[in-house]
Amino acid sequence: MALANKYRPNSFSEVIGQENTVIALRNIIKNQSFHNGYIFSGTRGVGKTTLGRLFAKALNCTNYDVEKGETCNVCNNCVEVQKNSHLDLIEIDAASRTGVDDMRELLDSVQYRPSQGKYKVYLIDEVHMLSSQSFNAMLKTLEEPPGHVIFMLATTEANKIPKTIVSRCLQFNLKLVSDELIAENLKRVFTNEEVTTDDKSVDLLVELAKGSVRDSLTLADQAISHCDGNLTEPEISKLHGVLDISSTTKLFEAIFENSVDDVINEIRRYKSLDVNYDILFDRALSFLHSKMIDGLLSDEESAQDLHLYYQFFTNGLIDAKQTGNKRDCFDIAVLRCLTFSEDSKNSLKKKAQIS
Ligand SMILES: [Zn+2]
Repeated sequence: MALANKYRPNSFSEVIGQENTVIALRNIIKNQSFHNGYIFSGTRGVGKTTLGRLFAKALNCTNYDVEKGETCNVCNNCVEVQKNSHLDLIEIDAASRTGVDDMRELLDSVQYRPSQGKYKVYLIDEVHMLSSQSFNAMLKTLEEPPGHVIFMLATTEANKIPKTIVSRCLQFNLKLVSDELIAENLKRVFTNEEVTTDDKSVDLLVELAKGSVRDSLTLADQAISHCDGNLTEPEISKLHGVLDISSTTKLFEAIFENSVDDVINEIRRYKSLDVNYDILFDRALSFLHSKMIDGLLSDEESAQDLHLYYQFFTNGLIDAKQTGNKRDCFDIAVLRCLTFSEDSKNSLKKKAQIS
């Protein structure tokens, strides 16, 4: 079984890094004050559908503990939700059912009473994919749903949901999960799974996961099979094309010194090693960011230069996402820095000559 499924939270207390949302959901159940719909928005793998399912389970759990804010996980309703077979938790993937006919069919079933539990929950994943007719059809029901119906909408792109829908729902914007919490969770999983790790391998998996608990577990799965249960940082680096962190420093030293040959050699080396450009972009940005914050500027690099370099890399990253060609976009960001360094040094020289 995939780790991401095996370690999916079974109760609110097991949810990682979304305390505010968990507190709010517990209060909603405690006070029995429901909105017509709930939106769970946030990037992939931070717990949108997990929270939706837990909320649905809590709403229907026969022995829900209001004080602790926890489901019993043993009543029929809990068990069926956990097995993904509860008749009153209707999960729809909007990406595959965007059409208005699908939506009408779904809305027709809204009027019928729940068959097992107290509430009928419609959990619509990737809801922003619905057509505008589908949203319109949904709007009428969302305005006045029967008392036994609750809509939960999960999305990675909340800005694409019509305002008329958003204004009728309570929105939870889920955060990226902190590196510390992801590391803690991975260590717990590795202990449980009897997987051994060296010091840096967990840090590297955390860096690759970028705030997503699910991604961290998927990466852990890959690493476990690649390293045969004994995780080492060099092996995981090799698996994901990640270079030693010092190579980013080396690249920028060459840029700051305007050493064209060294820069070109470095980007050629990246190409030959088939490196992970997502990580290179991240590290370049975080290197420049800390340089700017620390203010530890040598005479060579001005704050203005660093701001510009930062801009070159953020623009490069946007281009990379649009074109899908990360390597070219990274190289071009580097070359822009170099061209700029040269220009600024030339103009300094000119100024010096004039004066
Ligand atoms: Zn229960």
